[in-house]
Amino acid sequence: MDVIVLSDIHANLEALDAVLEHAGDWDELWFLGDIVGYGPDPEGCVARMRELGPAYWLAGNHDWAAVGRLDVSGFNPDARAAAEWTARQLDEETHELLADLEPRRDLPELDLTLVHGSPRHPIWEYVLNAVTATECFPFFDAAVCLFGHTHVPVVYEETIDGTLRRPLTAGLAIQPEEGARWMANPGGVGQPRDGDPRASYARLDLATRGFTLHRVAYDIETTQDKILAAGLPERLAARLSYGW
Ligand code: ZN
Repeated sequence: MDVIVLSDIHANLEALDAVLEHAGDWDELWFLGDIVGYGPDPEGCVARMRELGPAYWLAGNHDWAAVGRLDVSGFNPDARAAAEWTARQLDEETHELLADLEPRRDLPELDLTLVHGSPRHPIWEYVLNAVTATECFPFFDAAVCLFGHTHVPVVYEETIDGTLRRPLTAGLAIQPEEGARWMANPGGVGQPRDGDPRASYARLDLATRGFTLHRVAYDIETTQDKILAAGLPERLAARLSYGW
């Protein structure tokens, strides 16, 4: 089965549509959370995702923040302003949908776990290095954990010598060895943070466990114009040009 794995769309409809066009066909779509926050099209992105009917759709911290399920006092000022703006855009149906999402889904039948942040703290922990990844491996039983939240594509592989960090670049397919345990992040669709401004997503071949990263150029200027027109913080527009 051919799965496309998306995370951190962040209300960026231009990036989402570019990714979908690039992906073409797939058997299932899995989404690791944060459909809203930062970007100018929360309702547009939620509507698109509803049409697509993802097999799994997780909550991210920005989704919960927008519906009051998470306190935004820990957010930086730009993120908080965006969360407050987003909350005002959502209709009742979307509000309910986002409030009902959960940040973790265990799939023992597939030997997989899906989380937004980390298996230890699914809603808010950032797995940004091998030390954190090492601490997180005991918090899931499956061979593979897919996670998002950092917007940085990467694979962490558990080895007898410790955790190996394998950065992912466009077109690179990682094929873990038989029996290996790993954590993999497809990067962010709507706000990449690895210095490459192109939208990021991954394909997972469930038969071989091959995980392939893809990067897709999109119309960043249109998204930036919408951010500014909405009165969202300027920095949220600027950062899209730098992939940060
Ligand atoms: Zn995010």
